[in-house]
Amino acid sequence: MHDANCLFCKIAAGAIPSRKVHEDEELFAFHDIHPHAPVHFLIVPRLHLPSMAQVQAEHAGLLGRMMALAPRLALEQGCRPYPEGGFRIVVNTGREGGQEVDHLHMHVMGGPRPWARG
Ligand code: 5GP
Ligand code: ZN
Repeated sequence: MHDANCLFCKIAAGAIPSRKVHEDEELFAFHDIHPHAPVHFLIVPRLHLPSMAQVQAEHAGLLGRMMALAPRLALEQGCRPYPEGGFRIVVNTGREGGQEVDHLHMHVMGGPRPWARG
């Protein structure tokens, strides 16, 4: 369930500090250390899943709750409302997908443009 060597397991457990955005029994959200946008945070499950590639039907509820949490946290963090504002959700998967940390995470990015990497 947890990987002792995993950076995001340690962050979700509070063993490594982060700027927390949200936590509940199942999910943890924190600001990305190298933001690409004025608002840029990550939502991670406490469950250690390496990536979207390992997702099974049994994880559908968990993924749904991650997606459902994003719009509320985006507004709380300063994204303007849809449609003028909004946000981007990205889930990098595997090396060719641009994933660097092997613990499933959802990037939520938004805020006034231009962004660092648009
Ligand atoms: P990936 O490329 O795997 O989709 O995204 C990993 C993200 O984690 C990157 O945007 C990177 O800036 C962020 N990150 C890496 N290490 C840390 C850390 O120690 N703390 C925080 N808050 N973010 C991190
Ligand atoms: Zn992990």
